Amino acid sequence: MNDTITVAKGDGIGPEITEAVLRILDAAECGLTYEHIEVGEKVYLSGNSSGIPAEAWATLRRNPVFLKGPITTPQGSGYKSLNVTIRKTLGLFANVRPCRSYHPFVRTQHPGMDVVVVRENEEDLYAGIEHRQTVDVYQCLKVLSLPGTEKIIRYAFEHAHSNGRHKVTCLVKDNIMKLTDGMFADMFRRVGKEYPGLQQEVQIIDIGTARVATRPDRYDVIVTLNLYGDIISDVTAELTGSVGMAGSANIGDRISMFEAIHGSAPDIAGQGIANPSAMLNAACMMLVHLGLPEKAELIQNAWLRTLEDGIHPGDIFREGVSTSRAGTREFADAVIARLGQRPAQLKSVEMKGGSMPRFVYERPQVKRELCGVDMFVCDATSTPDELAARLQEASRGMLKLKLITNRGVKVWPDGFPETFCTDHWRCRFVGPEVQIDDAKATYVPIGRKQVSQLLHLLGEQGIEVVKTENLYLFDGVRGFSLGQGE
Ligand code: NAD
Repeated sequence: MNDTITVAKGDGIGPEITEAVLRILDAAECGLTYEHIEVGEKVYLSGNSSGIPAEAWATLRRNPVFLKGPITTPQGSGYKSLNVTIRKTLGLFANVRPCRSYHPFVRTQHPGMDVVVVRENEEDLYAGIEHRQTVDVYQCLKVLSLPGTEKIIRYAFEHAHSNGRHKVTCLVKDNIMKLTDGMFADMFRRVGKEYPGLQQEVQIIDIGTARVATRPDRYDVIVTLNLYGDIISDVTAELTGSVGMAGSANIGDRISMFEAIHGSAPDIAGQGIANPSAMLNAACMMLVHLGLPEKAELIQNAWLRTLEDGIHPGDIFREGVSTSRAGTREFADAVIARLGQRPAQLKSVEMKGGSMPRFVYERPQVKRELCGVDMFVCDATSTPDELAARLQEASRGMLKLKLITNRGVKVWPDGFPETFCTDHWRCRFVGPEVQIDDAKATYVPIGRKQVSQLLHLLGEQGIEVVKTENLYLFDGVRGFSLGQGE
């Protein structure tokens, strides 16, 4: 084991809670050495918009784990999110956030809650591919890949399996996004077959979020896409009673990052009253990851015992339950004094080292055929019928104009005058279609040159194409959605 870890104390309460956590790790004789790096506010304000200096990357890449204190992102649009930069650069594909209630010692409406959210961390709308295409329309691309999806779903099942969990719930919106979220749900069902001992369910994210918020005790492990996971993991953290309690892990194949879920709490910085529990819980996940589950268990049980003894930092202090209002330092001392003890009432923890899913992505052998193209056109003046006439004339029958949609809704042929139209039109051109039966037609492959020729012809007639999207069949199956109302 490489026993050197990278540490960034962070901003605001970061240095106070990091110092408390490192003291506990040392008292538990974890045998770690620390390489400190400076990231965050100071670096941002020195003119580095990424918040991380070049020399810090070498340290991060040298050590297997990074324990990161919360950082302050300065106000202003020029600063890039340090977390997103680190996640993407180091390939931290899984964000794992356990959220558990500590009833009756920490006030919560959900005493039986013990949920782990496994969030995909690199793809989805967070790919950050955004464009303003016309005066009216902005777009953000939702990108999901087969290997990225398989990796996160395997990680969630493996995590559930090796941590004695009983159920995995997949949250998606596959009733609307049939290709992207549908693929995620299909992958969940496919990989799930390898874990027959685990209960499995797929839920729609909207009702799923409502149920998580009202009956979190019904959930065990949740796996979901990046944006949904971002939201749902904040919901679960909030339900436990305090943001000062939950830690999170950002797991990659080679390097992983561990941190509290809360921010730098500038309102209480420097007062010595911050709760170091969230960062301590993150550090315990780090110990398990480093192959030191017995040390994680030792610390977690001492920490639970401290909570039971009523020694509580200000954010969870409650008259009648708490015996003393502990500052950051005193709280760490109390945990250290209880190393070796177990909680009497709260469930003591037995932490197991989860195994990383090892899989080699094998790209499926699929026949991919081009069968058409969506031309996205900017036009602020034409009606749908006028635009269709212009397109048909300009394309000279090269490909068939099949439909025009505006914001996804069909407006030609046979659109409704009630449909509101912007200056951004999706115009679908296809090759000849072959009728299979009365209800069904299939597409005939076209050549790539036809797409560029069509683009040229439209351009010649002053039609402004802001983007093209090729339409493919995969083993004869449509790889694109139909227009709403098509
Ligand atoms: P915050 O989480 O820092 O604070 C929200 C509230 O919770 C505050 O009242 C704070 O006092 C309290 N709180 C947070 N942690 C606590 C703890 N350990 N003990 C006791 N009370 C605690 O959120 P914010 O105020 O919205 O953000 C402050 C700064 O942190 C911003 O610059 C934000 O960008 C940054 N931030 C960083 C991270 C990160 O580094 N991962 C995450 C979230 C926010």
